[in-house]
Amino acid sequence: MHYFDFNATAPLHPAAREAWLEVQDRFWANPSSPTRFAAQAHHRLEESREIWAESLGVDPGRVVFTAGATVAMNAVFTHLAETSAPDARVLVSAIEHPSVREAATRWFPRRVDEIPAGQDGRIDTAVLEERLRANPYVAVAAMAANNETGVLQPVAEIHTLCREHRTRLVCDAAQWAGKLPLKTLQGMDYLTISGHKFGGSRGMGVIVLGAAEAAFRGPVGGGQENAHWAGTEDLAGIAAMTAAWQAQPVSGWSVAGREALAGAVRDRGYSVVGGETVRRLPNTLSLLLPAHPATRWIARLDRRGWMVSSGSACATGTKGPSTVLAAMGLAPEAAKRVLRISGGPASSVEEWSELAAALEAVRKELDDDLGEERLVTIVDL
Ligand code: PLP
Repeated sequence: MHYFDFNATAPLHPAAREAWLEVQDRFWANPSSPTRFAAQAHHRLEESREIWAESLGVDPGRVVFTAGATVAMNAVFTHLAETSAPDARVLVSAIEHPSVREAATRWFPRRVDEIPAGQDGRIDTAVLEERLRANPYVAVAAMAANNETGVLQPVAEIHTLCREHRTRLVCDAAQWAGKLPLKTLQGMDYLTISGHKFGGSRGMGVIVLGAAEAAFRGPVGGGQENAHWAGTEDLAGIAAMTAAWQAQPVSGWSVAGREALAGAVRDRGYSVVGGETVRRLPNTLSLLLPAHPATRWIARLDRRGWMVSSGSACATGTKGPSTVLAAMGLAPEAAKRVLRISGGPASSVEEWSELAAALEAVRKELDDDLGEERLVTIVDL
């Protein structure tokens, strides 16, 4: 089988498995206890924190290990709501992941304003600037890279605007981390990362706090994680996520396979969602298919050994078109024809090219079946 659904989740990295087993065997003690074993576990925990801090260029005290990106976002918006005025508003981009959109709506009911996106899938910074000039906002939520289209967002520009207007920037880097160097995302007030997108185990994540966010409190209870995140740390999960992250190519994943596929389907009736020139994640290609709903392609590709998806894994099975594609101006009918192809760091150029051939074979199958399907519909009536 060929797995091209890395944006949903990546398989556990061998280095992560090794680190997980090592910690479970040797450093299983509670890092907050006073025993010798606990001290060793604590040392192992801080080693992981330092690895993240070093590569992000931040103080280790600003690296907070969490139970995944969704939980982290819920905690960030809870904290923002609890520490701001009852009428405070937030600005959220129209292409955010549900974990951001829903958390913002829950904690700032009827106090969320939207930043639209353009047809290229990028957040519209001109509108953001207008909104920031017109109203004070307690925070802006803008992701680093979109999970459905892979389109990279103008985070540096958004960061500058937030600084100018003295508002905080909440940046979801779940799809960026591991695939592209993280140092580019320095200076965010809240940067959230999801471990299972690059080979860590699920339910693990990181929040990197901005220099001024020392008062951040997530779940309350014990004083773990420098009092930012209560609960006994999942040390094995943290070590696994850290090992998986260290194992990623320093300059990011290769774009060669993705480009080979884009080139192979060019001028054949497929088009790249957002356009071919917009910068995107190295592993992601979102294709508007020439005909037939994406769900049919997915089933047929699966039978041939290719695993791809039609958008966000969180949205699978939900009714209605993707909010991301709608925000980009795609009509509902077209949005149903969008396939998300997201390879891994080891997916070869040959594999991506073979996928182009598989797509063409499925297209022929579906075109040939169309008469038969129409007949079935008539008989059903
Ligand atoms: N943000 C984005 C952009 C994602 O793609 C995902 C995962 O699908 C999440 C957040 C949620 O991450 P987690 O599964 O760690 O809660």
